[in-house]
Amino acid sequence: MNKTNELALDNCIKCSICVTHCPVAKVTDKFAGPKQNGPDLERFRLEEPLAVHPSIEYCSNCKNCEVACPSGVSISTMNCRAKGEYVAKNGAPLRDRLLANVELMGDFARLMPGLVNWGGKVKLFRELAERIFNISADMTLPQYASKTFYELYRENKPPVSAKKVVYFPGCYVTYNTPEVGLALVKVMAHNGVEVLVEEFNCCGVPLIANGLLADAKNNARNNMRKLEKYIDAGYQIVTSCPSCNLALRREYGELFDMEKAHRLAEQVIDVFEYLQVLAENGELKTDFKHLSLTVGYHQPCHLKAVGCGVPSKGILDLVPGVEVNDLDAGCCGLSGSYGFKKEKYAISQEIGRQLFQAVKKKGLNRVITECGMCQLQIHHGTGAEVYHPIQVLAEAYGLGSDIK
Ligand code: SF4
Ligand code: SF4
Repeated sequence: MNKTNELALDNCIKCSICVTHCPVAKVTDKFAGPKQNGPDLERFRLEEPLAVHPSIEYCSNCKNCEVACPSGVSISTMNCRAKGEYVAKNGAPLRDRLLANVELMGDFARLMPGLVNWGGKVKLFRELAERIFNISADMTLPQYASKTFYELYRENKPPVSAKKVVYFPGCYVTYNTPEVGLALVKVMAHNGVEVLVEEFNCCGVPLIANGLLADAKNNARNNMRKLEKYIDAGYQIVTSCPSCNLALRREYGELFDMEKAHRLAEQVIDVFEYLQVLAENGELKTDFKHLSLTVGYHQPCHLKAVGCGVPSKGILDLVPGVEVNDLDAGCCGLSGSYGFKKEKYAISQEIGRQLFQAVKKKGLNRVITECGMCQLQIHHGTGAEVYHPIQVLAEAYGLGSDIK
């Protein structure tokens, strides 16, 4: 297939719907927008790959443009490739390389998590990081766990079962919220499903978002090597992070044209989609305890882009005493590393304002959302406690007490 057909470039009817759905273009004129950076310039890039507008670096890779496009144009794939070309030519600042190398940051932080977490809360150190690296001193930094998910998994191996899935935890669960991964393993075991894990690399989304496509492809290759035997054996590959899901389901095929990407895409499934199938087959355990819990629900942009609906809400609606209020307020604005960058912090907060207001207006002090970065941003913007929906389900089964 040639590039024009593959990206559905000729389908663009210039309706500008993508522009009206772009959260960045809505709040700043520093970004030329998805249509201009995407299909408009892509025509020139067919001849000259470096026809890239510098404002491309303001694209947050949220994918809302692509979800909204009525003609199926692969706008964000165009934008990711264009950003890749721009970075390959102009280089990426050290700050972007650091923020995109989530594994490097995680491996460093776990050497002395207490010190790193303390330092991240001290304004003086954050101001120093702002001066040296251009990392916003105003943004809340993620807290690191003392043990990674993989270490905790090895200490808490689930019981062997005939029904098995592979779990791709992603970096935020690995380094920052391993309790989310453990909750997933326990919920699956409670339903008779054994969760297997491998030490995967970062899915690559933070690298893609920063235009570091060669590094992202390298990660994709490593992950594919580890996943291959499970793909061939027909295992389902479960995720709890929407961005990892999107990378495995779509980016490995669309951006990197990887062998077996098509089969991987068929076998990747969000954990709540998996539980939804169990429920439809009458196989989901419903021995829930009453929880008396009212939460707001935020749908991450990348879950929208995956196109699996909101399976977590459907499952949590089965739990007595749980009331899930859909916040329906658009992008949180953080978009991985985007909102940590000094020049983008204000844009990120402006995008998230509607969501923060929705949480505050409804008087909610607990919110659930699948994406770790959305969790961080909502807590930053509202002070609410924010959880992954799997933690609520684990609590309902009496398997954990993460919910405060
Ligand atoms: S890319 Fe899609 S949404 Fe954007 S102008 Fe073209 S057809 Fe419209
Ligand atoms: S990916 Fe998001 S920020 Fe980038 S052009 Fe599309 S809607 Fe705008």
